[in-house]
Amino acid sequence: MQLGNLSRYPLATLPTPLDEAPRLSKELGIRVLVKRDDLTGFALGGNKVRKLEFFLGDALNQGAEILVTGGGPQSNHARTTAAAARRAGLEALLVLVGAPPQEINGNLLLDKLLAAEIRFVQLPSQDFDANDRAIAQAAQELQAQGRKPYAIPVGGSVPLGCVAYLLAAGELLDQLKAANVKADYVFVTNGSAGTQAGILAGMKYYGATIPVYGISVSRASAPCAERVSKLVQETAEFIGVPLALAPGDVIVNDQFIGPGYGIVTPEARNAICLVAQTEGIFLDPVYTGKTMAGLIALARQGDIPHGATVVFWHTGGQPGMFGYAGEF
Ligand SMILES: *Cc1c(COP(=O)(O)O)cnc(C)c1O
Repeated sequence: MQLGNLSRYPLATLPTPLDEAPRLSKELGIRVLVKRDDLTGFALGGNKVRKLEFFLGDALNQGAEILVTGGGPQSNHARTTAAAARRAGLEALLVLVGAPPQEINGNLLLDKLLAAEIRFVQLPSQDFDANDRAIAQAAQELQAQGRKPYAIPVGGSVPLGCVAYLLAAGELLDQLKAANVKADYVFVTNGSAGTQAGILAGMKYYGATIPVYGISVSRASAPCAERVSKLVQETAEFIGVPLALAPGDVIVNDQFIGPGYGIVTPEARNAICLVAQTEGIFLDPVYTGKTMAGLIALARQGDIPHGATVVFWHTGGQPGMFGYAGEF
């Protein structure tokens, strides 16, 4: 499928700003610019809004009437999918992993306001494959009932979602060019890998060489890197454009996960407070807080050289913060 022929349902306010972060930069001894995908606009924003433009376009082409996806109880992806469904006059079924929480807050509260149908399933936490199977099964059940479901895997990390970040990389490259900035790194969170894979695919697509440094918030480096490589390859096949990776192109650091996915670390807490107090920008406790903790540590250790220019890709997630009030 040619890139230009993909259906795209407009949701995001684009381009998102590329902001200088002068006080944070001074603190870290590097130049930090923040790509504000927390400000994609729709339904409290975040990276999933870009991906959903393509899923919704495809779903409507297929005549779907209900979007089916899943994640954790505080899934940003689930919240945004449920809102995107409503925007297009569709329904949403969310397959959330875990026990129904005692307190309804953060993204889960927003899911309820959207009147998404919510199904809690007991699965090994962090087993994305099991969650994806539960999503597929829920969609099959709806189909058997004569409904028209459209299933979206956890995080939307399939080629159609990666395409959104391939294009977003082009958006960033245009902004860097217009501002006459030469970036040495792009830092981004790796959750289900699609955002990093999409940005990396975009660097290849547009002939740019800025390293894309992924910070994992769930899995070890090796499986994350494997997933990124596979997604870049599949995206290349999907759009019919070669996007060959060279050794060393896929960078994933798993040193900032802490005890596990969704568990706030002291370093992430400090990073969230530092960015709030230097720049008035809010990060989130599950994804961007840990990624910023990684950038801070690597800058302070000198692994990111003094004076380097880093684009920190802010992927949103702030509604999740309200599910973590007790941690702060
Ligand atoms: C989903 C999510 C990510 C991770 O994106 P992937 O494409 O799954 O790697 C990062 N930040 C936030 C806030 C998210 O909701």
